[in-house]
Amino acid sequence: MITVGKIQSAMVNGLAVLSSEIKTETTSEMLFFAVREEQETYLCTDRADAFLVTVLIKAMREHQDILVESPISERLLYGIQTFLIPAWLKMNPAFSPIKIIATHTTTEPASQYGGLATGISCGVDSLYTVLSNLNGETPPSLKLTHLILFNECRVCAPCELTTEDNVKIKASKEVTQALGLTFVPVWSNAILFFTCAFEHVHTFHNMAHALALQPLIKTYYYASGHSIKRFWLDFSDASHYDLINAKALKTESFEMISHDPLVDRFEKTRYISSFELTQTHLDVCVRPQKSETHINCSECFKCLRTMLTLDVLGVLDRFISVFDVKTYRKNCAKNWGMTYYIRWRIKDEFAEEIIENARKFKYKIPFSACFWMLATGLFNQFAKLKRIMKRSSL
Ligand SMILES: [Zn+2]
Repeated sequence: MITVGKIQSAMVNGLAVLSSEIKTETTSEMLFFAVREEQETYLCTDRADAFLVTVLIKAMREHQDILVESPISERLLYGIQTFLIPAWLKMNPAFSPIKIIATHTTTEPASQYGGLATGISCGVDSLYTVLSNLNGETPPSLKLTHLILFNECRVCAPCELTTEDNVKIKASKEVTQALGLTFVPVWSNAILFFTCAFEHVHTFHNMAHALALQPLIKTYYYASGHSIKRFWLDFSDASHYDLINAKALKTESFEMISHDPLVDRFEKTRYISSFELTQTHLDVCVRPQKSETHINCSECFKCLRTMLTLDVLGVLDRFISVFDVKTYRKNCAKNWGMTYYIRWRIKDEFAEEIIENARKFKYKIPFSACFWMLATGLFNQFAKLKRIMKRSSL
């Protein structure tokens, strides 16, 4: 049995903290969500919805029921039991059915401010969700009011947190202020309780943060990572089945909307590329520490697929302050060769989109890209062989 202890509120080093003790038969760990002191009233102190969502995967993986000592929103409990648990059981044979024992449920609405929010990471999906929502076509009652930054903290207690404005916080704050919205940074160690790779659980991780802010948020727009054309019950990436997640992660006064699930990544990049804010703040990189001069390393798969898209669109030179465009151009044939290879090898949907659009936009792919495709394949096979030989010699 996993017990989600009664929710506690406290002030720690300028932060308003919401916490609960998560106990098993042998362990006891603190799970917390925190915001700046002046945003204290945004925290949801009367129910444990955020805590329940955070421990669900751990419970199903470890075959343990969950006892929740604080109230739970009745609609959320229904959504988890009706949509989420059955979907996970279909996707992951290692999971077990579990019971959720709620000591109290509530149908009281939690929302006080009626805010409309989304996350701000400055990536393609995030900037598209923000910028397309603020355009003239969105009815005023559905326009964003707040942008949330999730600070993943691998610490056991909030007293160990460093909360100064780092590069990420500064950039997200600049974008939020430029758009006239309110910035809400949240700190949490929820990531420690999701015992899976981040792409498996990002929807639940981020929505747990949003549920911790229920007095603030009425509607949360979740940036869709995959087009609905790729809807799939696939545990390795939660965004493949976000339409089900949106049905499940709902309360009496809170809803998650999977934002624009029909628009693919190429179209999103095209849309955001014309905004000056994107040209100075686009941050897609998974290895930002690799570059001393730019926000993005310009080498990782996310950087490359974004730069290739901008190149096909003919606007890459507008992004010289965030990407190393010179190095990209020097390695242009190699970049296209790798893209062809991953499209062929793993049927990557983003590589497929870029190549398809290169044809559509009459972009001239260097002929030598086919040699790079072969070279990438041979290199990968050689590396695989080396790994097998190393394993068999052990
Ligand atoms: Zn990168």
